[in-house]
Amino acid sequence: MIQLYIPLNFLGVIYREIKQSLADMERLFSLLDQHREIADKPNTQALVVQGAEVKFSHVGFSYEAKRQILFDVDFTIAAGTTTAVVGHSGSGKSTLSRLLFRFYDVNEGAILIDGQDVRDVTQASLRNAIGIVPQDTVLFNDTIEYNIAYGKPGASKDDIVAAAKSAYIHDFIESLPDGYATMVGERGLKLSGGEKQRVAIARTLLKHPAILIFDEATSALDSKAEQAIQAQLKEIAKDRTTMVIAHRLSTIVDAAQILVLDHGRIVERGTHAQLLAADGAYAQMWARQQARQDESPASPTDDDAV
Ligand code: ADP
Ligand code: MG
Repeated sequence: MIQLYIPLNFLGVIYREIKQSLADMERLFSLLDQHREIADKPNTQALVVQGAEVKFSHVGFSYEAKRQILFDVDFTIAAGTTTAVVGHSGSGKSTLSRLLFRFYDVNEGAILIDGQDVRDVTQASLRNAIGIVPQDTVLFNDTIEYNIAYGKPGASKDDIVAAAKSAYIHDFIESLPDGYATMVGERGLKLSGGEKQRVAIARTLLKHPAILIFDEATSALDSKAEQAIQAQLKEIAKDRTTMVIAHRLSTIVDAAQILVLDHGRIVERGTHAQLLAADGAYAQMWARQQARQDESPASPTDDDAV
């Protein structure tokens, strides 16, 4: 027990660090299954997913008692549709995804999936139903095959290859000297931003989750790479309940619903056309991004992952 004490404490620190980014959360939870801040209630049932409607019902949340982060956040993502969340840095966008994944429990209101409160279902079943494609994918120091298979432990090689093909990264992998056995990550082959994201997409395709979250917060891709990735994300999102935390508004014009978050409150909502017509915060953000695009047309880069 004494020997265990220090490592667990140390993991606690890492846990708090990494929890900030969605990138590694799935791995983290499998590593730290015993080290949770949030526990299943006794006799919890598994989540039963039908269409995977996601509902935030009057959600209020604060990380620390003194500083409220979300205020009366109330919206529904209809089963199989895409909702985009936009807003300034720090407005609470990623917090929404952390709450949906149940890293934390809400202080007010509730989050429901197909009518089931996320607090009333097992965390394993909840996290199994949700796939995340972060823009800053963290790769494990292991083979590229392991990194894809991570989406579904025990997946067959055929399934892994099929997922890689759908994510348009199979040919690249085959071109590597060791193919699927190539070591990647910090201590292995460094992949470009676009390649890493393709690995994340393959992982998610393999997992086949009912609910998808894309957090685009730290997009480092050039716009050509981004467009290619967006086309793929759209493909994955088709008919799945999807929450996109959008950085570039051009990527979400087709969303069924766009929420504008400002200091933890939804200040506008609607489709792209509706929000432009409303001529409010979203329309301003849109105009600013359009102007910036005209100033600096996409420049060619050496990210040849597309
Ligand atoms: P966004 O994704 O919109 O940039 P976040 O949801 O990450 O914003 O953060 C919303 C607010 O919550 C920010 O002010 C941030 O500083 C704060 N915050 C995020 N994580 C924590 C935490 N673990 N403890 C305290 N405050 C946090
Ligand atoms: Mg964020």
